[in-house]
Amino acid sequence: MQKKQKYTGLVWFGNDLRIRDNKVLEKAANECQKLIGVYCISPSLTVPSNFGFRKLGVYRAKFLLETLSNLQKSLAKKNISFLVFFDKSQEKIPEICKEFKIQRIYKQLEWISEEQKVTRQVRSGVPKIPVEEIYNQFLYHPEDILSDLQRIPNVFTAFRKKLEKYVAIRPEVEATKAFDPSNLLGKENLMPSLTDLGFKPIETDSRTAFPFEGGEHAALDRLEDYFYRSKKLGFYKKTRNGLLGKDYSSKFSPWLANGSISAKSIYWQVKKFETEHYKNQSTYWLVFELIWRDYFKYISIKYQNRIFKLDGILQKEYLWKTESQKVQNWIDGNTQDDFVNANMLELKHTGWMSNRGRQNVASYFAKELLLDWRIGAAYFEEQLIDYDVHSNYGNWMYVSGVGNDPRDRKFNTQLQAERYDTNGKFRKLWLQPSIF
Ligand code: FAD
Repeated sequence: MQKKQKYTGLVWFGNDLRIRDNKVLEKAANECQKLIGVYCISPSLTVPSNFGFRKLGVYRAKFLLETLSNLQKSLAKKNISFLVFFDKSQEKIPEICKEFKIQRIYKQLEWISEEQKVTRQVRSGVPKIPVEEIYNQFLYHPEDILSDLQRIPNVFTAFRKKLEKYVAIRPEVEATKAFDPSNLLGKENLMPSLTDLGFKPIETDSRTAFPFEGGEHAALDRLEDYFYRSKKLGFYKKTRNGLLGKDYSSKFSPWLANGSISAKSIYWQVKKFETEHYKNQSTYWLVFELIWRDYFKYISIKYQNRIFKLDGILQKEYLWKTESQKVQNWIDGNTQDDFVNANMLELKHTGWMSNRGRQNVASYFAKELLLDWRIGAAYFEEQLIDYDVHSNYGNWMYVSGVGNDPRDRKFNTQLQAERYDTNGKFRKLWLQPSIF
C-alpha cells in the first residue's frame, strides 16, 4: 500500500485557541510530519475605528495574552512550536511559510467579511500553498444540517426544535498526537505584553463577577468547579438571571469566544454529569443556552454583513439618534436610571456584565435613548472580555428591534431592577462611592 504523503504544515490559530476537541489541530497533526502553530494579533484592533472604539480593549487583550501563553505551553508538551506576532501581524505568515517550507495551512473557517479579507490576503501571499478552512466552533456541525443554510429559521424556537429533533451532536475529536521533539523549532518567540499592545497594565477590580484567567487550563478548571466541585450546574436555571458573584451562571463565554473550550466539550460534560449524577431542568438549560450561541452564528452565516447594518436583518427603519453626550453618559453610568448605571459601571471597571444586565442596558440604549444601536454594540466590542461577533451583533439587533425577537420587547428597567436586584445589593456595589 502506498504511504500517505505527510506535509510540513502550519496551524494558523484564530478563535480556536485550544488543544482539546480542536478539529483543525487534529487534522493538521494527522496529515503533517512537521507542524508549527502561529497566531497574529492585528495592530489595527487596538486603534480606534468603529464609532471611535477599539476592536480590542484592555480586558480582552489581557485575557487573550493569558490564553496564548497557556496554549504555547500546551503545544510545547506536544513538541509543537507556537509563534505569536503583533507587529506586521498576518503579513508574517507568507514569510514564515517561506522560512519553514510550509506546504499546507490549516485554519478555522470564518465567514465574516473582515476575516475573509485577511484570509484572502494571506492566500494571495502564498498562492501555491493550499489553505484548509474547517468549521471548528459549532455545537451542531453545519454539515449535519442537511438543508440549505439560507433556510435556517429566523425564530430561535423553530431553529432549536428542529436541531434537537433531527441532528446529533458529534463526539469530541480525538486528542492530538505528540510530535517528535525534533519538530520543535528551538526558538520560541516572546509573547507580546499588554504594554507592547499599547495598554497600561491593569489590576483586577475586587468586585468583579469574572475573576478568572484566560486559557484552556482555566476553562477546564472552571468547568470542573462549576459542574463537580460546587455543583452549581444543578441550579443553573434558577440562578442564571443573577447579577452578583461568580456562580450565578457558568461564565464560560470568554473561553468559548476565543475558543479555549469548545461548545461540544461542554455539551459532552453535561451528558457525563447527567449520567453520573442527575438530569434536571438546569442541566438541560445550559445546553439550551449553548444553542442560542449556535443560533447567532447561523444567523450571521445566513445574513452575512446585514448584521452590521442599522436596519438589521429585518430591514426595519427607525429614527435613530447619535448624540455623543448621551452615549458618554451611558458609558459612564451617568443616565437617569440607576440599574442601567450600575451595570454600565460594572462593564467599565471589569469587562464583564451579566446577561440580564446586557439586555437592560442595550434596551435602554436603543429603545429609551433611541441611540443608533451599532454604537452600543461597538462599545461592547471594545469592552467585553467575552466579545463574540455573532453573539454581540445578534443580541444587539434582537434587543433593538431589527433582529430576531418576534415580540420586539422594551425592557422596563426599573421593574427589572425590582425583580432581579430586589434588595439593591448590586446597585449598591457599583454606585456607592468608594471610601478610599
Ligand atoms: P451562561 O448563562 O452560563 O450560558 C452558557 C453559555 O451559553 C454562554 O457562555 C454563551 O456561550 C451561551 N449564551 C447564553 N446566553 C446567550 C445569548 N443570549 N446569546 C448567545 N449565546 C448565549 N455573549 C457572548 O458570548 N459574547 C458577546 O459579545 C455577547 N454580547 C451580548 C450583547 C447583548 C446586548 C446581549 C443581550 C447579550 C450578549 N451576549 C454575548 C450573550 C450573553 O449575555 C452572554 O453569553 C452571557 O451573559 C455569558 O455569561 P455566561 O457564560 O455565564 O452564560
